[in-house]
Amino acid sequence: MLTAAKKKVHNYSAGPCILPPEVFEKAAQAVLDFEGSGLSILEISHRSKPFEAVMSKAQALLKEIMGAPDHYQVVFLGGGASMGFHMVPQNYLRTGGKAAYTNTGEWATRAIKEARLAGEAVVVASSEDKNFNYIPKGHAIPSDVDYFHFTSNNTIFGTQYKDFPKAEVPVICDMSSDILSRPVNVRDFALIYAGAQKNMGPAGATVYLFDPGQLGKTGRKLSPMMDLKNHADKGSMYNTPPVFPVYVIMLTLEWLKGIGGIPEITKRNTAKAELLYSAIDRLPLFTGTTAPEDRSQMNATFVLSDASLEPAFDALWKEAGISGLRGHRSVGGYRASMYNALPISSVQALVDVMEDFARKNG
Ligand SMILES: *Cc1c(COP(=O)(O)O)cnc(C)c1O
Repeated sequence: MLTAAKKKVHNYSAGPCILPPEVFEKAAQAVLDFEGSGLSILEISHRSKPFEAVMSKAQALLKEIMGAPDHYQVVFLGGGASMGFHMVPQNYLRTGGKAAYTNTGEWATRAIKEARLAGEAVVVASSEDKNFNYIPKGHAIPSDVDYFHFTSNNTIFGTQYKDFPKAEVPVICDMSSDILSRPVNVRDFALIYAGAQKNMGPAGATVYLFDPGQLGKTGRKLSPMMDLKNHADKGSMYNTPPVFPVYVIMLTLEWLKGIGGIPEITKRNTAKAELLYSAIDRLPLFTGTTAPEDRSQMNATFVLSDASLEPAFDALWKEAGISGLRGHRSVGGYRASMYNALPISSVQALVDVMEDFARKNG
């Protein structure tokens, strides 16, 4: 059997994406025999003691690693971050109220669309004028809105907020593609939500980390499935939670804590991003597509200066065992997604290919 550690593929997939090899191995083992119980993690009850322990551990580790205040709560729900776009206005927008959003890409656009189904959403800043290749800065955030929403990392376009906007109103962030990749002052946020499949685990669970004191103020009647407070009150077990994804998230959090948590992963992510962006800047055949000060450490987007050379470049990186480097279908070009678990050796493999390509075509 081919084990995860022996795979030679450099996985640049934007999500679902690479996870640490030991997480794959432990998850595979638990599918066969969960903690020596004689049962698979896939066949145990979510109400069983061992799974309750998994759920509590995942919730506690997330708060510990992110440095969340004690009273913050964590739930893991299905539906993806896209369901989060709907849940945010349901839980935070008063009937007849107003919300503020920045529009920094495809996911922000979708979040705004969902908010407008529930009420008024003003776009206080947008980078749509330049195909979302920068992060708008220096804009005001009105104080008469119920909340301010932004997307910390724009997975498709490759931009990332370096400084988080501050507001007097509750701040809500879609952190799907850079959660757990760098320091975040959780107490500045009423809600952080993120699909698991970009830094935390497999697809199928979305994490909501929030201050429960900010809930229940809207006057809306909510379906219990849309009600964050209901899910939190029921310990994230109002209905059957995504058992296996939550288990894999727990394993990934254990791994992250084990390597040194946010300080260590920040160092690694910075080193990887510097290695790749310095190659993009050094080699004239490559051009970064985003404003340099807003470059994402998670998703680096670039194009070839001469697009007719794409087939030659594609052949080289595929031969080197690199996978998932093509840009999002709406953007084209290339996107190197360097999530937490991607080792720097994989980034070096890509840089080697880029240098080889530059020598052959320069
Ligand atoms: C991938 C992504 C989403 C959508 O996640 P789904 O789980 O597919 O709903 C939302 N926001 C951001 C920033 C993403 O990267």
